[in-house]
Amino acid sequence: MDCLFCGIVAKKVPAHVVFETNDSIAFLDINPRNPGHTLLIPKKHYETLMDMPAEQAGNLGEDLKTVSAMVQKAVQAQGISIVQNNGKAAGQVVAHAHFHVIPRFMNEGPVALESIMPSKKIDDASMKNIASKIKGSPKPVKTEKKIEKKPEKKPKEDDIDFNF
Ligand code: 5GP
Ligand code: ZN
Repeated sequence: MDCLFCGIVAKKVPAHVVFETNDSIAFLDINPRNPGHTLLIPKKHYETLMDMPAEQAGNLGEDLKTVSAMVQKAVQAQGISIVQNNGKAAGQVVAHAHFHVIPRFMNEGPVALESIMPSKKIDDASMKNIASKIKGSPKPVKTEKKIEKKPEKKPKEDDIDFNF
């Protein structure tokens, strides 16, 4: 299969890799919207987030938190925007699921990235109808997550939070 991001996973396409696990990899976006703009992807090829098994998506969510914290610290970002496009209509260009981690700064004129889409006036009856359609929509089957039981750790004095 001819997929650019699979090429990066296979190390056939060069990239500035900043984070890697057995299942995921994060690297700098080639067209950074700000310094530190990073893409986090699953190593396995899934076209969109909805194609991912729940467990893999959950693990990727944990990595997203980790990478966001790493990027924020590294470039001293004042905010982080997470962008995730699914499908052509949503502006997805590379058809391998990915999260954008975009550092944000106050001096760029703070703007929420979704605000580039103007809000639409939808009457209350239609809103109710849409909500009930979403509520009634079939949920993807969830694979059971194995919860690893860690041995209970006695808190050291330093770990105790005295601010109640
Ligand atoms: P999308 O529009 O699909 O959500 O985002 C795709 C992103 O991939 C874009 O921000 C684009 O700059 C980035 N990109 C495209 N080609 C390459 C590449 O060869 N290497 C890297 N590191 N990023 C790329
Ligand atoms: Zn791929």
